[in-house]
Amino acid sequence: MSDDELDGNEPDDTSWDDEGWNEAGPVAAFAAGIPMSMDRGPASVTCRFCGGELDVHQRVTNQTCSRPDCRVQLGKETVAKAGAAIEERAEARRRLAQRRMEPALEEVKRRLGPAGEGANTAIVPYTNAGLAPLPAERLAEFEAHLDRIIEEGFGPDYEGYNDDPDYRYGDRMRFEADDPFAATCCCIACRGNCCHLGRESKAFLTGHMVNYYRYRDPAATPEQIREDYLSRLPETSTVDGCVYQGPMGCTLPREMRADICNSFRCGGQDAMMEALSANPDAPAAIVALTLDHALTEDPDAPVLRALTMTAEGEITIHEDIPLPPMPPEEGDTGREGEVR
Ligand code: SF4
Ligand code: SF4
Ligand SMILES: [Zn+2]
Repeated sequence: MSDDELDGNEPDDTSWDDEGWNEAGPVAAFAAGIPMSMDRGPASVTCRFCGGELDVHQRVTNQTCSRPDCRVQLGKETVAKAGAAIEERAEARRRLAQRRMEPALEEVKRRLGPAGEGANTAIVPYTNAGLAPLPAERLAEFEAHLDRIIEEGFGPDYEGYNDDPDYRYGDRMRFEADDPFAATCCCIACRGNCCHLGRESKAFLTGHMVNYYRYRDPAATPEQIREDYLSRLPETSTVDGCVYQGPMGCTLPREMRADICNSFRCGGQDAMMEALSANPDAPAAIVALTLDHALTEDPDAPVLRALTMTAEGEITIHEDIPLPPMPPEEGDTGREGEVR
């Protein structure tokens, strides 16, 4: 292979079209070891995240090396692409929720008294699932997962990882800072709707988090990490939710949570953050609404709960706000009622 090819450049003696294909087609190109990608775009011989060298298989699949952090980045990218595809539909549902919740938000602001007029507002999802002790089989599953990721975090994949000058936990640590209280209030009103995704993923914990634990505490032993994670389990957690989804929210301290748990915001919480940047000292009026709210017209249905926060940070939960009727159609497709 020529230097040009190794550099990912087009070989001089071949005619290539705009997408990086030559007349002989992909099989010939692959057999010749010519860099290419499955989406027919120009291929690279280096990892697009860390710049490390790729083997032939990696070049023709996702152009990512097997370094743990690059695999995490690839996972995030895949999730982001899937998210973009459903965003359009979610936007219609969001508009529907906003139109339906207008009268409810007015009522919640009214409960703050005269200060309510200048309140920062948000509409967030709501989970009305109950709380229960974790069933024995789910605890056993979680313990097995913990054992696996501890083995991984102490395994060869991470050897010397924290000595790598290219690798820092700066980004992660930036998200560990506490949110402004009004933003946390969104999650209190919501009761952790997004944390249901933490059920199957076992709190999104991976060997990466075990390694991060070791980065913070280089003397930590596998037994200590295991014990620390198990000791944070709440006595009761949300049915069908994450094992750490307790009555007052997540029971893991931020530094022990997966990256996504610290960095994810739903649309409603984003809106609150934006309002706070313009109006940091205002009270807050938050309405939380289940994703299936459009299935009912019963004003007393347990699909809505609200929260007010005064400028002094005092919070009140309001479970008696009547569910407003469905607004007239607006040509949107959001009748299933997804909030975010
Ligand atoms: S980020 Fe949004 S969906 Fe997740 S717990 Fe907070 S308010 Fe609920
Ligand atoms: S660890 Fe905490 S923030 Fe993450 S999914 Fe579980 S309850 Fe939610
Ligand atoms: Zn890489």
